[in-house]
Amino acid sequence: MLLSVENLEVKYGNIQALHGISFNVKEGEIVTLIGANGAGKTTSLYSIARLAPPEAPKVVGGDIRFMGESILNTAPSDVVKNLKLALVPEGRHIFGNLTVMENLELATYSRDKDADLDKDYQRIFDLFPRLAERRKQRSESLSGGEQQMLAVGRALMTGCRALMLDEPSMGLAPVLKYELFRTLKKLNEEGMTLLLVEQNAKLALDIAHRGYVLDTGTIAASGTSEELAGNPEVRKAYLGG
Ligand code: ATP
Repeated sequence: MLLSVENLEVKYGNIQALHGISFNVKEGEIVTLIGANGAGKTTSLYSIARLAPPEAPKVVGGDIRFMGESILNTAPSDVVKNLKLALVPEGRHIFGNLTVMENLELATYSRDKDADLDKDYQRIFDLFPRLAERRKQRSESLSGGEQQMLAVGRALMTGCRALMLDEPSMGLAPVLKYELFRTLKKLNEEGMTLLLVEQNAKLALDIAHRGYVLDTGTIAASGTSEELAGNPEVRKAYLGG
């Protein structure tokens, strides 16, 4: 198992956001966490990324294991550098006044000196040809879809083996959503493990191998994407009937 979240309980101050949830991700899988607003999806990703205060959710019970080892005492920078687990946050958080290339370069600061960066840049430009065309352009002038591609590209430039994505389809026109999700599937077929948080359950289940439905900080359902897509309650609540 690459990642396993075990009976995780998380609080923000006195507010309990996760009530003992368990889920896991195997190497090479796409696993999705779906659920309504406030269900605890972002909190799950932030907890795994070990994000620093003040917005940090506090783990008050359970464990998060990466390749069998607890990572509760791992610094956020080491999650990226040593575990090679990168987060693409909701809202992208790219640096608008820097160019596409500069944003990608920023993600390489923690890489080994002998890393083959040229190969990695090329891989990103192959995946997202539009970023190649716009590599010298200021990022704030990119469309929403292109900014999301850049956010994914930047995470890949950390040299990660697994990506956590928070609502990557948010705010994108339908055609761009499909394009982005096709690319995510391709990335996975090339070997990248994905933990995908999405409100758009249909899009997520279309590419994921397995999924978990979160509901107010608990796991309401889990299974293969086919099982979830065929589950009447999931269909009613998240797939429009
Ligand atoms: P969304 O799609 O709206 O981000 P989500 O499933 O990702 O939803 P979370 O953002 O993880 O849900 O929120 C889970 C619970 O934790 C919610 O009740 C939310 O109000 C609460 N929460 C999230 N962030 C904080 C915070 N910084 N301080 C206090 N409570 C928070």
